[in-house]
This record gives sequence, structure tokens and C-alpha cells, in this order.
Amino acid sequence: MKKVAIAIDGPAAAGKSTVAKLIAKQMGYTYIDTGAMYRAYTWYCMEKGVDCTNHDACVPFVNEVNIVLKPNNVVLCNGIDVTKQIRETRVSANVSYIASYKEVRLFLVDQQRKMAENDSVVMDGRDIGTYVLPNAEVKIFQIASVETRAKRRYDENMEKGILCTLAEIEEDVRKRDYIDSHREFAPLKKANDAIELDTSYMNVEEVVNAIIKIINGKIGK
Ligand code: C5P
Repeated sequence: MKKVAIAIDGPAAAGKSTVAKLIAKQMGYTYIDTGAMYRAYTWYCMEKGVDCTNHDACVPFVNEVNIVLKPNNVVLCNGIDVTKQIRETRVSANVSYIASYKEVRLFLVDQQRKMAENDSVVMDGRDIGTYVLPNAEVKIFQIASVETRAKRRYDENMEKGILCTLAEIEEDVRKRDYIDSHREFAPLKKANDAIELDTSYMNVEEVVNAIIKIINGKIGK
């Protein structure tokens, strides 16, 4: 069977990972959460007590960080299960600085491309359609209003028991979008051949169905 790559990009908390997981399950593809990799690297820098805005202090860790995405969505960083920690507010507040460092991106992108070599994948992130997998068969750019995104992430955090306020989340989302779309190397950007999907007024099932329809249309089912 032909190997297929589905790229789902978009701003913070647009619901990409929720739908990407469901699509992967439905299609029998492997889900790859690239944001979790940037988050795990950020967690490591914080564990080491370095300032994430300090490029020179953070970049050398490419030589000692080993991030593994397990099939059950567990994230390991140098063998430690960091699945829960990487979602904490303190990590969210710092991850966009780490993700702006070219050396860190090259280190992680190399692994992301290798993961897509052998399997059909649904990969979500910011630069998948533009940089990581430019030849992906299907590219989706998933957007929603900042208020909708903040509310969705707030509800998700409440469910997971992550302490936060709605105002805090909205500020985090705005700040990350700004840094992610203004960085020099592989910024958050819609690929020219991506299909934009505004999910502000769509529920999860509607978004999943819309994307599956696009996939089936493209890969000829
Ligand atoms: O997807 P998620 O919100 O977990 O990503 C966390 C952060 O990781 C983003 O705000 C962005 O700074 C960075 N990221 C990135 N490129 C990707 C995926 C995530 O820069 N492909």
C-alpha cells in the first residue's frame, strides 16, 4: 500500500492534536505530535535550570536530549515519562523560545522526517506542510478564533487537572502565535497548497469528517 503523509498545521490550541489522533486511528496511520517534541526539549532545559530565552545555553542540549514518542502518546525524555509535565503552563510559556532556535529545529525535524519514512502518518505542528514534509499528500491549515481556541484549551486543561485561568491561556496562545509566526526559520505559515479549515463553529466530529473527506478525495478512495 502506498505510504501517505497528512500534514496538519495551524496556530496554538486550534484542536489539531485532537483531530489528528482521531484521523490517524480511523485511517490506521501513525500519529506524530511534533509539538510534544519541542515541549519535551523545553522541559529538559527547565530541568537543567537554564533560561529558555538564552539560545547559547539551550542549544548544546541537542547532544544529550533523547525524545521518544511512544505509540500510546506517552512522551519520554531521556527515559523519563514527561507526558504530563510537558503540558504545564510553565512549559507552554517557554516552548516558543526553544522552537525559534534553528539548531533545535534541525535536530527535531531530522527525527520527524525519519518517523515519516516508513509509515503512513498524520503529523501535526506548525511547519509540517511548509518544511518538514513539503511533499505531504494532504495539507490542512486548521484555524479558529483566538477566543475559541483559548476556551477549548482551558476546558481541556480543566479535564486533565492542569491549573490555569482562561485569561492566562488566552495570553499564552496569543504570545506563542506571535513568536511562532515571526521566527526566522520555518515559521508558522500556511503552505501554498494547504487547505484552510476554520473550525470556530465546528465540533470535533465535523472537523474529522471534513478532513477525512479531503484525504479520500486526494488519495482516490
Ligand atoms: O502543538 P503544540 O501547541 O503542543 O506546540 C507547542 C509549541 O511547539 C508551539 O507553540 C511552537 O512553538 C512549537 N512547535 C513548532 N513547530 C512544530 C510544532 C510545535 O515550532 N512543528
